[in-house]
Amino acid sequence: MIIVMEPSATDSDVQQMVDRVEEAGLEAILLRGEVRKVIAAIGDKREAPIERWQGAPGVERIIPILSPYKLASREAAPGATAVRLDGQVIGQRKVQVIAGPCAVEDFDQTLRAAEAVKAAGAVALRGGAYKPRTSPHSFQGLEEEGLVILREVGDRTGLVVVTEVLSPEQVALVAGYADVLQIGARNMQNFMLLKEVGKMGKPVLLKRGISASVDEFLLAAEYVLKGGNSQVILCCRGIRTFEDHTRFTLDLGTAAYLKQVTHLPVIVDPSHGTGVRSLVAPMAKAAVAAGADGLIIEVHPVPERALVDGPQTLSCEDFARLMQELRPVAEAVGRTM
Ligand code: PEP
Ligand code: MN
Repeated sequence: MIIVMEPSATDSDVQQMVDRVEEAGLEAILLRGEVRKVIAAIGDKREAPIERWQGAPGVERIIPILSPYKLASREAAPGATAVRLDGQVIGQRKVQVIAGPCAVEDFDQTLRAAEAVKAAGAVALRGGAYKPRTSPHSFQGLEEEGLVILREVGDRTGLVVVTEVLSPEQVALVAGYADVLQIGARNMQNFMLLKEVGKMGKPVLLKRGISASVDEFLLAAEYVLKGGNSQVILCCRGIRTFEDHTRFTLDLGTAAYLKQVTHLPVIVDPSHGTGVRSLVAPMAKAAVAAGADGLIIEVHPVPERALVDGPQTLSCEDFARLMQELRPVAEAVGRTM
């Protein structure tokens, strides 16, 4: 990092900073400019107390050079990390699709959705057993009964089961049924939850918080990686902006950016990202064209009867058509489906 001293900083202010940098185990190189002095602190110490140094006498500003997300960044792993989904992987050439209802409502609805998405080429079944709802009066999910349904349907259809876990206390229970643990947008910075899923040997699908910056998103992933779990999938699911013609603003530029700065697989959720059924297919195609490693899409056998998120949910037929239409898009950017 570079420590820029104020023009009025005294020799003793500068010396004090040099000492502090060296005490932190870094090499300090003092550069004497015409107007001010600058200290280059050399060494990989991302835990250096930048915030405390920022307030030290004579310090104008501190410019970090290394990204704060050491484990998630490309510097940490030059290749791409492939996350294992049963016999398949996400993060390599094949664009993988996770699909299913927003919420598990009953066995029949879940099985019908699962059979349809499997036949269309999805690798995994999504479905919420615990739903993070804005209103406490809305359907909260079938809870453990929903997990039992998901497992049974996953086993019958051969689909990987992806479901959301809402709290650290629930992690062991949900991991007993699910193959992939989803951390929802509203929980992206639930640090205790991130630490808990970091201890599990199961892949984690981490959704970007609706108001989280990219650095915050990657630092949330960093929590899971630091726990020893390298199987993290990042999901762009739209962020909140001033725009209100869609439910959220789907940040595809961020998906492309993430592919450049991190080795983790990046998927896109055009269902929550738009909130509008007719926009799901075009944005799914755009996501694949932008380099996403996969998609997560809401599908229900009767979307107009869905208990949660019906307006953004595709029918089984719409989904099958979309999967066909995605294939040439994937091929055009050197991927398979
Ligand atoms: C979901 O995928 O069911 C969900 C609640 O998504 P998000 O956390 O992105 O809102
Ligand atoms: Mn939903």
